[in-house]
Amino acid sequence: MTLVEERISCPLGAWTGEPGHCQCCNKLIETTRRRTWCSDKCARAWQRNHIWRFARSAAKRRAKYRCVRPGCTAKRRDCEVNHLAARDGGGYGPGCHHHLDPDVKGIGGLEVLCRVHHAIVTAAQASARAASRRATREIAKTKKLKQ
Ligand SMILES: [Zn+2]
Ligand SMILES: [Zn+2]
Ligand SMILES: [Zn+2]
Repeated sequence: MTLVEERISCPLGAWTGEPGHCQCCNKLIETTRRRTWCSDKCARAWQRNHIWRFARSAAKRRAKYRCVRPGCTAKRRDCEVNHLAARDGGGYGPGCHHHLDPDVKGIGGLEVLCRVHHAIVTAAQASARAASRRATREIAKTKKLKQ
């Protein structure tokens, strides 16, 4: 999906793809100084949900720089940002996968975790991946045996 296609399909934005309209709220852009966004507010809203370094700091700010796990005793600012749906080698390029909150289809969603809790989540995601790879191999083997 191209960036333009993603901006049109983004559930957070209202842009219909028409040139001259804000690619966030779809309002007609009245000034000639701007081409993509109608205002700084829309530009920032888009950045915050699609560009990793902005999304990461917005998530931390929202969590007040604390791990979100209940009862976690990690120090304030000992925090890292985790994608609820593992990127799984998908990279950190701009896109809807950096949405601060997951959408109805479960795409996106960021949570702030301390280093320890982040490591636990990452390890669990890695072993889930390994298990699903094993399962795929087993299915392939069973198929061969049946032939
Ligand atoms: Zn706008
Ligand atoms: Zn989006
Ligand atoms: Zn924690």
